[in-house]
Amino acid sequence: MAYQALYREWRPKDFSHVVGQKAIMETLRNQVINRRIAHAYLFCGSRGTGKTSTAKILAKAINCLSPVNGDPCGVCENCMRTDREETLDVIEIDAASNNGVDEMRDLRDTVKYPPQYGSYKVYIIDEVHMLSTSAFNALLKTLEEPPAHIVFILATTEPQKLPETILSRCQRFDFGRISIQDITGRLKEAADGCSAEVSDGALMLIARAAEGGMRDALSLLDMCLGYSNKVDENLVRSILGTSDTSFLFRFCDALAMQDAGCVFMMIDQLMKEGKDPAVFAKDICGHIRGLLIAKTSPDDLAAILNITEEEAKEYIQHSENMTFTRLIRILDLYMSLGTEMRYTSSPRMALENISIKCCLKTTETDEQALSDRITELENRIAELTRKLENGSVSVRVAAAEPGRNETEKTPTEKKQAASSVKPTKNAQPEDPAVWKQFMTVIRQKDMAAWSFLSQGSLVSSRDGHFRWQANRKEGEQQFIAVLNNPDRKKVICDCLADITGQQCMFSAIEKDSAVLNDNSDDAYLETLYDTFGKGPVNVVDQIK
Ligand SMILES: [Zn+2]
Repeated sequence: MAYQALYREWRPKDFSHVVGQKAIMETLRNQVINRRIAHAYLFCGSRGTGKTSTAKILAKAINCLSPVNGDPCGVCENCMRTDREETLDVIEIDAASNNGVDEMRDLRDTVKYPPQYGSYKVYIIDEVHMLSTSAFNALLKTLEEPPAHIVFILATTEPQKLPETILSRCQRFDFGRISIQDITGRLKEAADGCSAEVSDGALMLIARAAEGGMRDALSLLDMCLGYSNKVDENLVRSILGTSDTSFLFRFCDALAMQDAGCVFMMIDQLMKEGKDPAVFAKDICGHIRGLLIAKTSPDDLAAILNITEEEAKEYIQHSENMTFTRLIRILDLYMSLGTEMRYTSSPRMALENISIKCCLKTTETDEQALSDRITELENRIAELTRKLENGSVSVRVAAAEPGRNETEKTPTEKKQAASSVKPTKNAQPEDPAVWKQFMTVIRQKDMAAWSFLSQGSLVSSRDGHFRWQANRKEGEQQFIAVLNNPDRKKVICDCLADITGQQCMFSAIEKDSAVLNDNSDDAYLETLYDTFGKGPVNVVDQIK
């Protein structure tokens, strides 16, 4: 059998198989059953919502010799003729194409002739808003005094472009965007139908990318199946060119921390992976929208974004890193990028430029940036007041030591005095609680570092040397570069030292790194220490 595109194969053949437009289907079905057919229908809605499919089903149903509960039977002579396109009773006109103009010119002549086989002659006019003025006039003349055997089904994505005279003569149906659940349901049927293995996450990604259009969703699935019979999220992402959510979370955290270096590095990673800056800008807009919804209506977030409760929690947590006005500002900037990218010769530079602007919150002097800073200060004051009132923070006035005033104190001492949470001193580095406490502290001090660190885990903390690995091999080098940056390393080590009360080291290491290999010197030494205790073992020279 010849290959048939999925969206053709899965084009609905009766009302009950049209996805996600239940109320419309019920109404049309009842009209067929009660033979109350209107002279003109107008189907409005965005692409892929089922307008043309429904028009074809309706055309078939009203001419069917023995309709089944309002649906076309599919086996009578009239149904078969329509399927084989052997009848002049159903005429499809694409107003967007050239032959549409000719066909509309002939319209006034052809409507006079009665139907060939069935009881109605049905004109399906797709993209009707594209008709020329003269064609509209021809259509209007016919609509004003329609012969009894004529039915018009007009379909359009832009009903606002239709003249009022046409609108007022049609029975109008608005096709809504199809819900993610409905789309994934149909995609699953289609995938099972060709015995392909498609993960739930992949179906979700496809459904989201299709933005409520069934045809786009099926075409995307078709494209994925062209690569492999097993489709997972990574395959879908590589075909769509989109970024995964964890990357977007980290990117926004870097923006929140105004970490321009990190932002540049992440954009560089994107480009190396061959991602399209325009697609990424769109991804960021969608992501910021999610953060905004998380801020305004956290309870409905999961339902609005069609995500799990777990994912919703992540959005809510990350949304706390930025004020509402700042998020709006960043969204504005990235949305303007869409237009800018069409005219620029370097989309990458446009993306970097906007991203840096998003980082420069505190140095900008425009009203919006200032109002951001005021809001942030207000929030902090409110939080402090709240903490003071409920007693979770107390104000201590330190008695000055004789002969030593405040300015002589070392920076570490000052930091400790300012910190409201006193870490438990002298905790053993090997104690898992140390890392847990460290993550809480680093989140306050360096959000970008925290964001990266939470994408991996601590693999060893022997002798105060904390070694960390990314959870995934993908993008690992970038994690390592960011975390092993000397400045950042110092912040991390200082934090760890504060908690453990001893000098600490930190390294981000590669997955399957030899450092942790059981044959390494470290492991050997460890066994010696275990056997004899640290005292008698004296390492004279360690050959690297
Ligand atoms: Zn039939």
